[in-house]
Amino acid sequence: MSQSALSCPKCSGTMELGFTLDRSHGATYSGQWVNGIPKRNWLASWLDIGMCQLPPAKERITIGTFRCQSCGFLESYACDEFKPT
Ligand SMILES: [Zn+2]
Repeated sequence: MSQSALSCPKCSGTMELGFTLDRSHGATYSGQWVNGIPKRNWLASWLDIGMCQLPPAKERITIGTFRCQSCGFLESYACDEFKPT
């Protein structure tokens, strides 16, 4: 994934790199992509809520999201280069 010279497919504006923020119980994360559909953990099944199992780290890929500075359009990519530093 090349970060250079991305232009917005909607308005040709300049795209800037960022990430989607995920917060839970006092922790802050960057979004991650996982193949397949989420599997509920035992507590989520028991309570019928949306929590899911945490897949192994090797199966999760950090998502980088580009935002158009003109119209706000978002375009995301799942690549290892977007891991938090
Ligand atoms: Zn745009």
